[in-house]
Amino acid sequence: MKTLLHMITVFLFIVLAPLAAQPKICIDAGHGGSDPGAVGNGLRESDINLDIALKLRSLLNADTADTSGGSSWRVLMVRTGDTSVSLAGRTAYANSNGANRFISIHANSFSVASANGTETFRYRNGSTNSRLLQTAIHEELIDAGGLRDRGIKTAGFYVLRYTSMPAMLSEQGFVSNSGDAAEMAKGAWRTDMAKAHMYGLQRHYGVAAYDPTQSVERGTVTLNMGDTALNPVRLRARSSGDVVRVAYLADDRWPVGESANAAGGYAVDTRFYTVGQRKITVIGYGASGRELARDSRTVTVQNSAFVFTTPSVTDNPVALTAQGDANVASVRYYANDTYLLGSSSNRNSDFPVSYRFNFTGTRSLSAVAFDSNGNEINRVDHQIQIND
Ligand SMILES: [Zn+2]
Repeated sequence: MKTLLHMITVFLFIVLAPLAAQPKICIDAGHGGSDPGAVGNGLRESDINLDIALKLRSLLNADTADTSGGSSWRVLMVRTGDTSVSLAGRTAYANSNGANRFISIHANSFSVASANGTETFRYRNGSTNSRLLQTAIHEELIDAGGLRDRGIKTAGFYVLRYTSMPAMLSEQGFVSNSGDAAEMAKGAWRTDMAKAHMYGLQRHYGVAAYDPTQSVERGTVTLNMGDTALNPVRLRARSSGDVVRVAYLADDRWPVGESANAAGGYAVDTRFYTVGQRKITVIGYGASGRELARDSRTVTVQNSAFVFTTPSVTDNPVALTAQGDANVASVRYYANDTYLLGSSSNRNSDFPVSYRFNFTGTRSLSAVAFDSNGNEINRVDHQIQIND
């Protein structure tokens, strides 16, 4: 009994899992054959509907083939040519093939030429999923087509009423309106509307809108620096593939610079005011601006060794002195952060300056270390008592 139950469970899993992962989408290009649908401004509705339906099929098949995003679909087509199909034939096709969703594609017409815009329908007593499907596609159609938003509507249309799965019908625009017709005449516009149906389906099935026909950029990026670094830190990375620009982040939050690809790789000099362990992340971007790859590591950031060694009690003239390592090229001494008392270049790692103070007593002094490029790399503050 237990074994039988186990076998049934395995059987159900094998049979149901692919169905759940690959919904059957029935695409119904309205009218066709002896029925051209609405006609006006040099357009036939049946042609527009079929073109968008065929484009939608191609997009869904491309989405299924592409594993970088989107979803996976089985496409059912009510018609793929300029053929006549009855309304009952359309719903019977969807129902008997077990379609999971039904999308009917139409274009509109009205006796008043000024009527214009895009609208969508679901059956007036339709399911929640009909409404959700319609809403997701409607939003994308308005976004993509740029025509007037006539709203999310209900109706008793045959194909909505007699389909047994969640169903919606889209009216792209009015062939009877010259403005709408001018858009619908463009192949690129019809492609955008086909994509909008796909995006709505993707969102309806819980994945982000994704265009599988965009050329997919790929690349890698690698941090190319040691585990310890001296301020100012030279951030370095190398890339492969389609990476054209990198950005660096500290501790996953702080942008510390970015660099376009140059002969020397992606070098950015930055000074860390908080030394110690910092997480450095490099993010590589493609020409489209899409993030392609990232790499990170923890780097111990250190300041150059630098000490301000003037005694805390001293007589005038004061022998100001500091010691720094090989990265310190020069030192300037300031009183109260403002008054430059003198500067000194490296003399065997000593930086001596003699200065006579006019005012005795306690003074606040700073020794500021600079590297050979004139960048400040360290600073030590020190209080001294000056006697005459
Ligand atoms: Zn129609």
